[in-house]
Amino acid sequence: MFDTLSERLSGTLRDLRGKGRLSETDIDATAREIRIALLEADVALPVVRSFIAKVKERAKGAEVSQALNPAQQVVKIVNEELIGILGGETRRLALAKEPPSVIMLAGLQGSGKTTLAGKLAYWLHNQGHTPLLVAADLQRPNAVNQLQIVGERAGVPTFAPHPGASATAGADPSLGPGDPVEVARHGVQHARDKMYDVVIVDTAGRLGVDEELMRQAADIRDAVQPDETLFVVDAMIGQDAVATAEAFRDGVGFTGVVLTKLDGDARGGAALSVREVTGQPILFASNGEKLADFDVFHPDRMASRILG
Ligand code: GDP
Repeated sequence: MFDTLSERLSGTLRDLRGKGRLSETDIDATAREIRIALLEADVALPVVRSFIAKVKERAKGAEVSQALNPAQQVVKIVNEELIGILGGETRRLALAKEPPSVIMLAGLQGSGKTTLAGKLAYWLHNQGHTPLLVAADLQRPNAVNQLQIVGERAGVPTFAPHPGASATAGADPSLGPGDPVEVARHGVQHARDKMYDVVIVDTAGRLGVDEELMRQAADIRDAVQPDETLFVVDAMIGQDAVATAEAFRDGVGFTGVVLTKLDGDARGGAALSVREVTGQPILFASNGEKLADFDVFHPDRMASRILG
């Protein structure tokens, strides 16, 4: 196990406890510990640097508090800055005024996109929406089938390119299996015709970022004009998430982030890094393989988890 930020800070903070106010030396010592803790949590270095600079700045300017001792004061500043970096408030999903709303999912293969599509559909369904899943990942042989399976579990129909392939689907028999852009376009039209109010479009992911994948995702985006494009990223990859996020931001563009596999990573490096580097909010967190292992993202909870 790794040390939480609190555990790391406990030694330094113990030294601060008897003091009346924060000295420059105290702040530097604390900053060093925070730096190590964040690097161990796999936060990207530039993000660590800017975070430390903010905490130092605030700690130096902090009034000597009547209510808090210096140690508590540092923890409070770190916690507030973490919440700030993570987006402050929970950002709600932006739905269209005129249904159907279109949510496009993008991310690397294995990031948990298909699983997430099912979870999001299930969550929307439980909130009284009538979602439709659209299988526009035609790259991976089993992807359409996998989406149909999660859709069935979620009780949500899947629009698929293969006629008759899904029990509940609105599969279009005129559609061949070949063109993901056409599948996405037809899927949205089908939702409009049949009064589904949210369309979730699953797109292809590759093992690494590649240009063809980006172009295809951008073509799908242009065809369906999403209200939200969500970049789905595996939290376990830590700061490697930064390069991937930048590639998707530049190649496709996204309006929000979904962190997956948070059950396997308590450290938060990906969360802090992706949010700080791309400036886009984290909307949802996925933390397990079951449909219900899913929630809106709470910056304050993630901050407590990082702080420990
Ligand atoms: P895709 O290639 O992006 O569509 O990824 P999948 O949805 O197929 O997920 C890849 C693997 O990760 C599958 O084995 C999923 O069961 C698993 N997975 C997805 N989300 C989570 C999660 O939040 N936690 C855990 N532990 N596993 C997950």
